Amino acid sequence: MTAAAERAVLDAVPASLLIAGEWVASSTGATLDVTDPSTGEVLRSIADASPEDAQRAMDAAAAAQAAWAATAPRVRGEILRKAFELVRERAEDLALLMTLEMGKPLAEARGEVAYGNEFLRWFSEEAVRVTGRYGLNPEGTGRMIVSQRPVGPCYLITPWNFPLAMATRKIAPALAAGCTVVVKPAALTPLTTLALAAILEEAGVPAGVVNVLTTSDSRGVSAPIIGDPRLRKLSFTGSTEVGRALMKQAADGVLRVSMELGGNAPFVVFEDADLDKAVEGALAAKFRNIGQACTAANRFIVHASVADEFARRVTERVAAMRVGRGTEDGVTIGPLIDDRAVATSLSLVDDAVAKGATLAVGGAAIDGPGSFVQPTVLTDVQPGSAILREEIFGPVLAIATFDTEDQAIALANATEYGLVSYVYTQDLARGHRLIDRFDTGMMGLNAGVVSNAAAPFGGVKQSGIGREGGLEGIHEYLSTKYTLIPAD
Ligand code: NAD
Repeated sequence: MTAAAERAVLDAVPASLLIAGEWVASSTGATLDVTDPSTGEVLRSIADASPEDAQRAMDAAAAAQAAWAATAPRVRGEILRKAFELVRERAEDLALLMTLEMGKPLAEARGEVAYGNEFLRWFSEEAVRVTGRYGLNPEGTGRMIVSQRPVGPCYLITPWNFPLAMATRKIAPALAAGCTVVVKPAALTPLTTLALAAILEEAGVPAGVVNVLTTSDSRGVSAPIIGDPRLRKLSFTGSTEVGRALMKQAADGVLRVSMELGGNAPFVVFEDADLDKAVEGALAAKFRNIGQACTAANRFIVHASVADEFARRVTERVAAMRVGRGTEDGVTIGPLIDDRAVATSLSLVDDAVAKGATLAVGGAAIDGPGSFVQPTVLTDVQPGSAILREEIFGPVLAIATFDTEDQAIALANATEYGLVSYVYTQDLARGHRLIDRFDTGMMGLNAGVVSNAAAPFGGVKQSGIGREGGLEGIHEYLSTKYTLIPAD
């Protein structure tokens, strides 16, 4: 990738806020710098929104709501379909942009563009499939009509780790349902969302239907929107800590909420697993996105009889991984998002080793510019180690062992999170039995990656509320209305 190609992609991004169909500077004139986590260099300076800008974005979303809700579902669907085509045409530029601002290897960024774009296609199709019910009541005295209405203006907050997919997973169902939105991407990776917003505009999204606020003051900018009586829905993807605080704020307006929060996924390997497949699944579940995924396998819980062999095979593969800037050929491990993330990952490794784990490979930061950490494998991780409780969010694979199925389930469920679990077994009866025993919203049974636009993504316990994608996704943006008509 040449520097000129990178510059061209960066310069094409609108560096402003999108409010009421206009690309505008911040009302204060402030800007924020977006940096490349693999070099620390500034990629682009963009508008840094203020609470006043937030108020104007909310005004725009409220003003556009009635007309967008009244727009024919087919028209809404066709606009989303057009956006899908445009993203597909510009996939290479979007992938490069994401690699530059977030650090993931280019091959993974391409994968995210394809995955994220599926939400535009899926919800372009779902827009015309919102149906209701009509029937006689049990007494025979009245006819009941049940219909679905858009909830109204929505505030969508997204994290930095999947800049495109987390945006399309919210914007597409909201627009398909007939809702207008204000979107606030993470300050670390806002460029992809700005590029996506420009594509949505080009696809025909009317002024005010999608508004974008980029800001270094997420709390200050969010408060006036969440407190606005015209807002009807808050959809958030990010950490459980921030999600909890936002739910408290949303309570004042009794807002509908969708919360896609943190994870602490167990990856359980039974003694009857196909180890070749388990190793492939483990590497995908752990190292995708440099370990920075809510769905990342956090705890490897491996039957004692196969633990050494499993550890040997994954260690061999991890030792051969190439670390570097995501734009370089052959790199599979890019930088972490910032130096704080490096320190968090390494402190969890140090704590595990202090409590008795063995460091099989890695375990240190890599010198030089950028926030790099060596891909790491820990074996014999002991109960009580912080790495088993906390989200690692880095390329660290931690292995603990078990002896019985009940023990494995107890270990896997011993967390306040419940997003996804991964289980490897060749015993069909056991596989079916386990579906009901893992307290998670999603499960990979002999699969290390589960995400699909056609499937309901989401967690139980403190991993969240609501589902994105699948038949369920659009219902997060619809409210049910019941009407009675007397029969006589
Ligand atoms: P984060 O909670 O720090 O930030 C998420 C978003 O919230 C960002 O846009 C941020 O600017 C904003 N934010 C932070 N404080 C805020 C406040 N007080 N008011 C309003 N907005 C605020 O999370 P992150 O570090 O960006 O992302 C990593 C986390 O996201 C991990 O915990 C990960 O598991 C989770 N995640 C979950 C899913 C899922 O679908 N369940 C998907 C991706 C990431």
